[in-house]
Amino acid sequence: MSNPSLLILPGDGIGPEVMAEVRRVIDWLGAKRGIVFDVSEGLVGGCAYDKYGTPLHDDTMAQAQAVDAVLLGAVGGPQYDNLDFSVKPERGLLRLRKEMDLFANLRPAQCFDALADFSSLKKDVVAGLDIMIVRELTSGVYFGEPRGIFTEGNERVGINTQRYTESEIARVARAALELARKRSKKLCSMEKANVMESGVLWRDVVSKIAAEEYPDIAVSHMYADNGAMQLVRAPKQFDVIVTDNLFGDILSDCAAMLTGSLGMLPSASLGAPMKNGRPKALYEPVHGSAPDIAGQGKANPIACILSFAMALRYSFDLGAEADRLEKAVEKVLADGVRTADLMGPEGGVPVSTTGMGDAVLAALDASL
Ligand code: NAD
Repeated sequence: MSNPSLLILPGDGIGPEVMAEVRRVIDWLGAKRGIVFDVSEGLVGGCAYDKYGTPLHDDTMAQAQAVDAVLLGAVGGPQYDNLDFSVKPERGLLRLRKEMDLFANLRPAQCFDALADFSSLKKDVVAGLDIMIVRELTSGVYFGEPRGIFTEGNERVGINTQRYTESEIARVARAALELARKRSKKLCSMEKANVMESGVLWRDVVSKIAAEEYPDIAVSHMYADNGAMQLVRAPKQFDVIVTDNLFGDILSDCAAMLTGSLGMLPSASLGAPMKNGRPKALYEPVHGSAPDIAGQGKANPIACILSFAMALRYSFDLGAEADRLEKAVEKVLADGVRTADLMGPEGGVPVSTTGMGDAVLAALDASL
């Protein structure tokens, strides 16, 4: 059997710096656990524009379609701000998401005990928090037609359309229900069925699929505005949440901030299963290219490392190795090892990007 394949796209700014630490974890898995990946590397974003005049070359797109999973660092930077919209660095990322048809965006919000003080909420509200938001990513109001700014009479009108088909709702519902089955068998679906027909359909389809195909999962429904309140009031009541593109955009950012630093947040975007049964998949940290600290060895690589842990779990069925990597990160944080973004009033051991990688590798060694 051939090795599982990975395409690494480090991108711009701190992307290559944080990805270098993931490469070390990949090498560690090969050397110490006998888990070997076929790794290829490519360009995306501003660096791809500099070389090819496009933020994603067709050959790189073809490679992304062919591998088992794509790992991306970050794209963008001020030097690209004035480029034409069609070749901006973000277009490379959007093209990947669109052409791979990555309809389910997984955003975990996990609060490591050692960082509970970083949350703007009280420590006991967030300590031990571990929830997963599944956001529909390829449809809804960001894509629906008609859209645009039109003139009606003597004034302009801005129009966007919230549109969901049953099959679009069904596929993201199944993705969330499958996740719930692997976690605590609890799913909360959020929409606004009280005021939106698309919400009525959303609730109907989720309920039907849950009842017919997932009787073992406890499914509840909540209006998204109440969901936002509950997320900051008592977030630990949730496990997996599924919601549409617009509400998911807002609720996942809200949930993410419960946990403190942007440098800690991983994500996965999944599509339909490929011939080998693995889903189309793109893993990336939530943060951007952080031009303000790029090239200074200050970036926190944990979001990127945890994104790779998600790849181990969701693309490669290596849940035990994902647990090992997440526990290594937890231990490093508990030991007080801190990149600058994690340095709070209680202090800690200040480290560079590479220093954080060293500490994670040492914790992985200690786990054997
Ligand atoms: P950003 O996430 O890059 O940075 C926001 C702040 O968080 C900065 O102060 C930065 O130093 C800090 N930060 C981010 N990641 C960090 C890490 N790993 N360790 C330590 N500190 C970290 O967001 P921004 O400043 O709004 O955007 C900068 C560029 O990134 C822009 O060009 C933007 O378009 C792009 N961007 C890309 C993505 C992506 O690639 N998915 C996402 C967001 C923004």
